[in-house]
Amino acid sequence: MKITTQILLFIFLMGCSPTNPKGKGISTSKGTVKNGELINGRRFPKKGSNYKYFSKITYFLKNRAWVNAKVLDIAIEAYKECEITMPERKFLLMECSHKKGGKMWPHRTHQNGTSIDFASPLKKNEKPYHGDQWKGIFHYAMNFDSFGRYKRNKKISIDFEAMAKHILALDKAAKKRNMYVKKVLLKINLKDDFFKTQSGKKVKAKGIYFAKYLPKLIDNAHDDHYHIDFAFKK
Ligand SMILES: [Zn+2]
Repeated sequence: MKITTQILLFIFLMGCSPTNPKGKGISTSKGTVKNGELINGRRFPKKGSNYKYFSKITYFLKNRAWVNAKVLDIAIEAYKECEITMPERKFLLMECSHKKGGKMWPHRTHQNGTSIDFASPLKKNEKPYHGDQWKGIFHYAMNFDSFGRYKRNKKISIDFEAMAKHILALDKAAKKRNMYVKKVLLKINLKDDFFKTQSGKKVKAKGIYFAKYLPKLIDNAHDDHYHIDFAFKK
């Protein structure tokens, strides 16, 4: 790449943050999250009033912010509800699917536009903490202990109540569209803290499924974010 092209690309990436979704036509999620494709998907806006997509590199260059149109509507409606229930809270959206789905390294799923990684909402001194929102792809490298405390600064910890409220909002928005939260992946040793919260108890009462066992590598990856697979009701 010529230097001028690089500079132009840099300026483009710094300045550009689409606030509208991209894509048209009827969305189809073919196959499964582990072996599938996405037809006529939608790309998330780069940011909304209380959320943003985490990385310009994966958004623009790698095209990894695509989902089924219904999944986009669900996520956006849930963020709208969270704006009312948690006005101080900003959310971070992480990897989704490629424009046409298919394999997306290093994920085993995320193949048909029905999987989303959501950054774990954080708190410091019981107040929403957003310092992690500048980490970009390095957000995936954050590590938390079994109580959900950030290993590099124990004053910062996962806000499980906010996470649970968000999952409840997603479930509600999904049901309106004949879809549901099929599976949540959260690090196994964090689940007890999650289900202890007021809204965590509601998540449990609704029977929303959380993975019961995860291979070590996958388990260790799911502390800085929670992965959700949505599915269509039969
Ligand atoms: Zn994931």
